[in-house]
Amino acid sequence: TANLYDALRAAFPAALDAWAIETDTGFVYTWRDLDRGSAMLANELIGRGLVPGARLVAQVDKSVEALMLYLAALRAGLVYVPLNTAYQPAEVAYFIDNAEPAAVVCTPDRFGWVSKLAFRAGAQAVYTLGPDRQGTLLERAAHRADTQTPVPVGRDALASIIYTSGTTGRSKGAMLTHGNLLANAQTLRTYWGWQPQDVLIHVLPIFHVHGLFVAVHGALLNGSPMLWAAKFDPRLVLDWLPRATVFMGVPTLYTRLLSESDLTPERCAHMRLFISGSAPLLIETFRAWQQRTGHTILERYGMSETIMLTSNPYGPDDRFGGQSERRGGTVGFPLPGVEVRIADAQDRPLPTGEVGGVQVRGPSVFQGYWRMPEKTAEDFTADGWFRTGDVGFIDARGYLTLVGRSKDVLISGGYNVYPAEVEGAINELPGVAESAVIGVPHPEWGEVGLALVIAQPGATLDPDALLAALRGRLAGYKIPKRCVLVDELPRNAMGKVQKNLLRERWRGMDL
Ligand code: ATP
Ligand code: MG
Repeated sequence: TANLYDALRAAFPAALDAWAIETDTGFVYTWRDLDRGSAMLANELIGRGLVPGARLVAQVDKSVEALMLYLAALRAGLVYVPLNTAYQPAEVAYFIDNAEPAAVVCTPDRFGWVSKLAFRAGAQAVYTLGPDRQGTLLERAAHRADTQTPVPVGRDALASIIYTSGTTGRSKGAMLTHGNLLANAQTLRTYWGWQPQDVLIHVLPIFHVHGLFVAVHGALLNGSPMLWAAKFDPRLVLDWLPRATVFMGVPTLYTRLLSESDLTPERCAHMRLFISGSAPLLIETFRAWQQRTGHTILERYGMSETIMLTSNPYGPDDRFGGQSERRGGTVGFPLPGVEVRIADAQDRPLPTGEVGGVQVRGPSVFQGYWRMPEKTAEDFTADGWFRTGDVGFIDARGYLTLVGRSKDVLISGGYNVYPAEVEGAINELPGVAESAVIGVPHPEWGEVGLALVIAQPGATLDPDALLAALRGRLAGYKIPKRCVLVDELPRNAMGKVQKNLLRERWRGMDL
């Protein structure tokens, strides 16, 4: 059987009473707790009549019990569908209608409206689970046996549907199999050099690929314990660093840690690896981290549809001449087993160094979008490559650099402008902390660029001088028509700038 739980369970240490997870509230769970707790939950779900392949939607706060619920879904052969806790009723309604779950787990305060939506969509059971073990799910599971043999499934059986972040439009459900998840977890285990004595700091949400698959599978498949926080708190991370070896974060977590004065090399001396992903890591952050901690952040790239695709090297990579340099601004090499190519609009491969669409193939690439066969067909080439929607180039040494997204493009006077490229140029100007470039409708040009810029603390910026400084660095048509200084940029839970909100906010601006 290819049930992912069997593979994870086989990696648990022999000493099942050793600690597996310590939480920010001071609770300690052993490996036996994880095994028994997930068995009880699986028995409850199976006992309620849920059959393999049925969907289980969970919109719950991060907790160890929520993690056990995921493990229980694997054990029972169910398809786990986690939802961002920020989603509001209209959004939850879309996901529930789309996923048609057999069971839904929500927080106690949402039971009223979630249960209506769930039963209307045909669910058999609606449970509640609060952040501190409240709710009906655990009450029911408490009466169940604490052993369970994972349901046998094939590699191609669905394990999870992960809804994409919705950065470029409506979220799509990416169907991932037990085989997809295990293949990626095994690859990362080797590529990132996981070691038996590793301890992972887990501060990411568990409703996306980064926190749920990359982080959790990484630790569990290696039998490594986790220091587990429901929310990111930089002070807590600083306290934990001397006890840990691996940290995974989105770029905003790194910037927030950098603003803590006691982030020092001494504090990071026990650490083995800092990993960043989900959104672009600014080169300034990459460099500042090196200076402040003596560690070089390893940046990697992936997406809901494919799990991890590329990574900067952890150690020497023989496939690329033994290079071991982690290059800031790049997302590294294709992971072993993953093929990456850059193609033009007709899916023809482009030579080294040319910018085009990033296309991929490999064992972790998803089975398609749930209930969206046309969208799935549209995103695969005739010869089976998945069009990621990201735009980038591969240099002579083999590193992939992302320059933007094919959908995050503005067309000004007939020219395509990739905001990410313009943002990169703006971010290099003195005194700039960060920027976002969006297209604003314009009667003459169709669209023109608007740059929203955040100054570094203490710096005074002149918006017009910034635009003037771009002349000579960028072709004229790429230079935004206007620049506005702002205090912050709207971001989602994974640290991605929400450009749709920015476009709405600034669409009426007269440029
Ligand atoms: P949607 O597909 O709904 O528009 P989304 O693409 O943001 O949303 P996710 O699957 O959560 O949803 O995110 C994957 C995307 O995140 C990638 O396609 C890429 O654009 C971006 N990404 C991930 N890692 C990196 C990275 N290291 N650098 C730059 N971008 C990254
Ligand atoms: Mg996407």
